Amino acid sequence: MIYGNMKMWINGEWVNAESGKTFAVKNVTTGEDLGTVPLAGKADVDKAVAAARAAFPVWSGRTANQRSDLLLKMGEKLRNEFGKKEVPPLSAMEHGLPAHLAFGPDVMGASGNFIQAGAYARHIEGHYIPSSSDRMYMLERVPAGVCALITPWNLPFFLMVQKVALSLAAGCTSVLKVPSINAISSLKLAEFLSSFEELPKGAVNIITGPGSTVGTYMAEHPGIDCVGFTGSTETGVEIMKAAAPTLKKLVMELGGKNPAIIFPDANLDRAVEVLGHHQFFNCGQACGSPGRYYIHEDVFDEFLEKYLTHAKHLKVGDPLKPDSDMGPLVSKEHFDNVMKYIGSGKEQGAKLVLGGERLTGPEYDNGYFIPPTVFTDVTPDMKIYREEIFGPVAVMLKWNDEAEVMRLAEDNNYGLTASIWSKNVARALTLGKGLTVGTFSVNSHNFIAAEAPWGGVKASGVGGREGGYQGVLEYTVQKMTTVCLIE
Ligand code: NAD
Repeated sequence: MIYGNMKMWINGEWVNAESGKTFAVKNVTTGEDLGTVPLAGKADVDKAVAAARAAFPVWSGRTANQRSDLLLKMGEKLRNEFGKKEVPPLSAMEHGLPAHLAFGPDVMGASGNFIQAGAYARHIEGHYIPSSSDRMYMLERVPAGVCALITPWNLPFFLMVQKVALSLAAGCTSVLKVPSINAISSLKLAEFLSSFEELPKGAVNIITGPGSTVGTYMAEHPGIDCVGFTGSTETGVEIMKAAAPTLKKLVMELGGKNPAIIFPDANLDRAVEVLGHHQFFNCGQACGSPGRYYIHEDVFDEFLEKYLTHAKHLKVGDPLKPDSDMGPLVSKEHFDNVMKYIGSGKEQGAKLVLGGERLTGPEYDNGYFIPPTVFTDVTPDMKIYREEIFGPVAVMLKWNDEAEVMRLAEDNNYGLTASIWSKNVARALTLGKGLTVGTFSVNSHNFIAAEAPWGGVKASGVGGREGGYQGVLEYTVQKMTTVCLIE
């Protein structure tokens, strides 16, 4: 066990679960144990929430510049020391993202989250509102309080740090929980945060345990004011229900089924390179990956040929090897789910033109590897067309009527991201107005950057954006102060 027996981080101390129970985190490629972590229960959540509440007046009482300075320092240290060494191999072993590809989002992206949040922490501005009477009004942004931060496994460091950094920038304290798959990553983040003595004890607490028990309890806990959640739409619904009786503020980033619409005048080489990258990066386990390709009939064959060439060149293998482009899927359960989608695509009459079978052989047998998979002849009644697959499966349709393709692209429950590919940027921007999504790209797809607010609408998100100044504001609430000028 590379990581040994790890402890949770509550109130600045390293602790076991109150029950003494633990669970093992596995290497997703070999099936070996990487380390054990505490199996938290309700008593541990109570302790962590109490610590975050006690730390709240201390941390929210720090000046904007003090909060900013610390976040900027964290960003530098993550990028230059801790991140480089610890994060890429852990991302590869825990969830299968090739180590050399994890560096960009999970080290540089996470460090960017600290740095941007640090910069914005200095500029949380309010308003002075003119009055016609003898009063003056001051509207300010104050911290939302104690936050439950619950994140998914697909880009653990980027997503954990995003929530921790934005909430700290706003002056909030928190309890963070990630999926059991990434429990070691979260405790490594705790190790990193514990190296900053300027961070008050209990300002961030990190616990490890299942979402169905501790996650739900965090969402319903009366000591929590705000829930910052990234994960599936189904879990988002459960969290909203759990949080409803105590009327918590919610920041929800959920699933997607993202259209990419290719016009005949698009730069096909670039479209293939960018969309192919986003489709197969992290084995397609990305909320913003293209979920539905609409390709104009005049360029369909050319696009497909280029796309298949791109996909066939990707090397699927051990994510610790520097030449691997794709690793295994994250778990047997998730593999079974993706294979069900592939099965349903075949049964419902889509044409499988690439991949679709589990890879076998000595390099693959202890993990769950699916190569790049491409379906054409897809129709809107198919499950693979309507639902989020979250795997390396591209779903392609041919179009020839602009109004109809825009109607189809809009007709989905999700509203995370979408892209239009055309040299006619004015047309793309005009058509983009008809897409109900949180983020929209022209000749690009799925930008996630610390400086750019990201998030969805409809079944893809509730309560706002993460990233940029907007992301910090999500962890604040407005407070109006009135002063009467007559003493
Ligand atoms: P998930 O919903 O299964 O789990 C997310 C987190 O919620 C985990 O920490 C889990 O332990 C916890 N959880 C599970 N059940 C819970 C409950 N009842 N109450 C409270 N917490 C609970 O999601 P996942 O499989 O880890 O991640 C994949 C999903 O995340 C995909 O749908 C993907 O699109 C989405 N995602 C969205 C974004 C975005 O920015 N919109 C980013 C990344 C991933």
